[in-house]
Amino acid sequence: MASRIRIQRICQYCEKEFTAKTTVTKYCSDTCAKRAYKARKKAEKIEASKQETQLIKNKPLTDLQGKDFLSIQEVCQLFKVSRTTVWRLTKEGKVNAAKIGRKKFITRDSINALFAPPIEKKEATEEKAININECWNIGHIQTIYGIHDKTLYSIIQRFEIPKIKKGKFVYVPKEPIKAILGEPRTT
Ligand SMILES: [Zn+2]
Repeated sequence: MASRIRIQRICQYCEKEFTAKTTVTKYCSDTCAKRAYKARKKAEKIEASKQETQLIKNKPLTDLQGKDFLSIQEVCQLFKVSRTTVWRLTKEGKVNAAKIGRKKFITRDSINALFAPPIEKKEATEEKAININECWNIGHIQTIYGIHDKTLYSIIQRFEIPKIKKGKFVYVPKEPIKAILGEPRTT
């Protein structure tokens, strides 16, 4: 019964009307079927080629993402910023940069650190934990104990005494200082 079916269809290649034997016949002839196949293959090749081009184009950027050290130019590429901007960051000491040969490199870590929360915020949370009234500023401790600032800083570092910065002054809690250096002669 199926063989007797005659249906008018439109060829998907040449777009002419033809009489088809089945309801799913797409092309009017073998020639159109072959041409359509070729066209499809060609389109696939073009698409593959386009994708390849895109991959090559994106490759430098993908490579940059895994690097520990970046040249000035690479930083520019990565963030789409000017050389002046990157130079300024190195000059202001906001990133760690070193000259190797004739080229300047910036550490990836220091670039990542730019995204860390600002230092002021960190200090604010530390300030909450330490009561400023229970602190002496560095200069004051030097005076009352009669010690050199280098000595004091090495003590602070060795005993991991917390520091807080308020304006121009650095404060440390009195208690650990007293515990280490004893009661001061004067306060
Ligand atoms: Zn056709």
